[in-house]
Amino acid sequence: MENFMENQDGEFGERRELMVADLMAQGILRTDAIIRAFMQVPRHVFAGSENENVAYADYPVPIPSGQTISAPHMVAAMTELLQPDAKDKVLEIGAGSGYQAAILSKLVKKVYTLEIDSALNVFAKTNLAKAGVKNVLVIEGDGSKGYAKAKPFDKVIVTCATPEIFDSWVRQLKIGGLLIAPVGAGFYQELVRIKKTSKGLEKTNLGAVAFVPLRR
Ligand code: SAH
Repeated sequence: MENFMENQDGEFGERRELMVADLMAQGILRTDAIIRAFMQVPRHVFAGSENENVAYADYPVPIPSGQTISAPHMVAAMTELLQPDAKDKVLEIGAGSGYQAAILSKLVKKVYTLEIDSALNVFAKTNLAKAGVKNVLVIEGDGSKGYAKAKPFDKVIVTCATPEIFDSWVRQLKIGGLLIAPVGAGFYQELVRIKKTSKGLEKTNLGAVAFVPLRR
C-alpha cells in the first residue's frame, strides 16, 4: 500500500514547479536545459530535513557550520552566466550543500567541487548521493589553490565571497573558459565574470551580491 507520508516529492515537486515558473517569469531562468536541471534537482534534499519546508522559497537556506545555500534566483543567475555545455569540466569553490554542483551535474560532463569544512564535505557528499548524482566529485580542501589534479577546466564557479581572483583559478582555466566569482571583502561583493582569452582576461562587472566569505 502506498504511504503518502513517505512519498513527499509530489508536494515538493509542485513547489519546485512554482519556483521554476517564477524564475522564468522574472527572466532569470532562460535556457531550456537549465530550466530542466532546476526541475530535476530536489532542492529540499540539499536543504536538509530541518529546512526542507523553506527550500523552495526564493531565499538562502541555512546549512551546517553557519553557511548557506544561495537563493534560487542567485543559483539560476550564476548558472546562466556560466553558459554550461555538455562537454564541460567545471571547478566549483565551496560545495556547501552540493545544490549548485547538482544543478551543474545535469548540464556538464563533470563537476569538481572543493569544500574546506569537513562537516560540509560530508553533508555535500551525502546529499548528492541521496539525489542520485554521480558526476560530481566533492574534495575536502582549500579552494583558493584550485584543483590542479583535474586541470584544465572549462569553467570555474566560486560560491563564497573571495578577496581576489586567485592565480591558481586563472591558470587552471582553459583559454576561452569562463570564471564567475563574488569578489570583495565586505558584506556585499561585486559579481564578476572573467573570460580567459589568448590575449588576456576580459572582465565584466555584474552588480552587487552577498555571499558568505571564503575561509582559509
Ligand atoms: N555552493 C553551495 C553554497 C556555498 S556556501 C551550495 O550550493 O550549497 C559557501 C561554501 O564555501 C561553504 O560551504 C564554505 O564552507 C565554503 N568555503 C569557504 N571557504 C572555502 C575555501 N577556502 N575552500 C573551499 N570551500 C570554502
